[in-house]
Amino acid sequence: MLNILVLGGTDEARRLAAALAGRAGTHVVSSLAGRVRDPRLPVGEVREGGFGGPAGLMAWIKEHRIDVVVDATHPFAARMTVSAAEATGQAGVPLLILRRPGWQAGPGDDWRWTPSLAAAAESLPGLGRRVFLTTGRRSLPVFAGLDDLWFLARSVDPPEPPAPRRLQVLLSRGPFTVEGELALMRDNRIDMLVTKDSGGRMTTAKLFAARELGLPVVVVRRPAAPDGVTKVETVEEALAWLEAVTGTAG
Ligand code: NAP
Repeated sequence: MLNILVLGGTDEARRLAAALAGRAGTHVVSSLAGRVRDPRLPVGEVREGGFGGPAGLMAWIKEHRIDVVVDATHPFAARMTVSAAEATGQAGVPLLILRRPGWQAGPGDDWRWTPSLAAAAESLPGLGRRVFLTTGRRSLPVFAGLDDLWFLARSVDPPEPPAPRRLQVLLSRGPFTVEGELALMRDNRIDMLVTKDSGGRMTTAKLFAARELGLPVVVVRRPAAPDGVTKVETVEEALAWLEAVTGTAG
């Protein structure tokens, strides 16, 4: 039996687990951080919660006789990705990073790339007054203190303080449509958008809407992935890698 650990929390991780489900000789465990109250669950076996850093993950890998790990976490889940690289390196288990490509600005886009959430927050005063903030509920403390700005923050679960003083929270989970995003931005008189470079299709509609409305978009760059680890961008490439590495996953 080939034991595969898929570090998840993304659409790609769910699609990978679905593609591997039921394959003879293959056992897949998907891992979630356990932060979202009502997560979209992958098919098959699921475990939830942190491992306790690289040492905890290494122990878990050994205890569960994991043969290969696919890190299909979100591009901004940097700690988990570093932890996976360290733990698999020490355990001598192959690791693949499955990370969807980032977004690219097109004609008509007014994107301002920033290296971090903190830099994004610093860049907002002067750019506009009504912010559509889509960087996740745990990013709100970074924007607290920008009292001259009004924020519409969209997240899956409610944020906790500290948060910007002038804040409206919209609880919602993608995918979103361009028409819906246009209506939301117009209704709230949004004049700038803040996003991470998450990539993928589930949440791109806001970028098309911002382009159509001529709004500036502050885009937070992705953290770098660890060196020396094989990286692919699609589920199909991940399946091919698994087949090549294990000889049995196909
Ligand atoms: P993070 O900062 O890299 O992770 C913090 C800690 O949470 C990790 O050190 C690990 O704890 C635990 N953890 C993270 N992902 C895990 C997983 N798949 N299984 C088990 N433990 C996990 O990650 P994050 O940004 O908080 O993201 C948490 C989860 O949400 C990830 O699974 C990610 O795919 C998903 N997600 C994140 C974003 C985002 O914008 N960051 C967006 C959508 C979905 P230990 O050190 O104790 O092992």
